[in-house]
Amino acid sequence: MTPSSCAISLQGIHYAFAGNTVLNALDLKVESGEVVALLGPSGCGKSTLLKLLAGLLQPQRGEIYFGSQRVASANSMLPPEQRDLGMVFQDYALWPHMSVAQNVDFPLRMRKIPLSERQLRVRTALDRVGLTEMANRKPSDLSGGQQQRVALARAIVAGPQILLFDEPLSNLDSELRETLCREIAGLLRQSGTTAVYVTHDRHEAELLADRIVHLSFGAVSAIRTVTSSSGKST
Ligand code: ADP
Ligand code: MG
Repeated sequence: MTPSSCAISLQGIHYAFAGNTVLNALDLKVESGEVVALLGPSGCGKSTLLKLLAGLLQPQRGEIYFGSQRVASANSMLPPEQRDLGMVFQDYALWPHMSVAQNVDFPLRMRKIPLSERQLRVRTALDRVGLTEMANRKPSDLSGGQQQRVALARAIVAGPQILLFDEPLSNLDSELRETLCREIAGLLRQSGTTAVYVTHDRHEAELLADRIVHLSFGAVSAIRTVTSSSGKST
């Protein structure tokens, strides 16, 4: 595959924290519309990899492409706000002083989208995660599952090409995890968004992903294509 034929291409990525190597000559390609689950032991560099994709860290060696655009290398870096992506974190990372609607509106406000269109898009995003009624509440009034739905609405509201998930369901109980996982899978399929989904949970990975990528010792150690018979919702 050439860089331009896939949505994301990581080539020879090296990243070390203060001389401590985390990712070493890592190669990974994600096709457009594909959902890749990233599994691996704690501390193996999954969050570091997502931060490199999001533009929160810069690789010390190697290159990252989104389509044919080089977004990062050791000496060039497209800033995070110019990357067409949304991110969902384990701890929701909502702004506590903003209402649910204001949280979801934030990426649109940053993009200077007109108010009337913003209002429509926020309503649509909240609708898609089933939280229309909660628009004026504060995040602290909501359950963990509802807060993560808000974070999901915020990630999708601007219609990004790429979604990144960092163990988004680990703080929720197992029943809710399964429900939300199926909802996320549905949203991803419906929108055709390319996604990298970090999880500890093999079952989640099977439900959601087209491919499961294992990370160990700073590089991809195994890749497996998920068949629909193994439980993935289509
Ligand atoms: P994972 O998400 O797979 O659990 P991380 O990417 O968070 O792993 O971390 C990979 C390694 O990098 C770990 O050994 C971790 O301690 C180290 N690390 C992560 N962030 C920092 C940081 N800001 N400063 C120093 N070391 C870090
Ligand atoms: Mg992590």
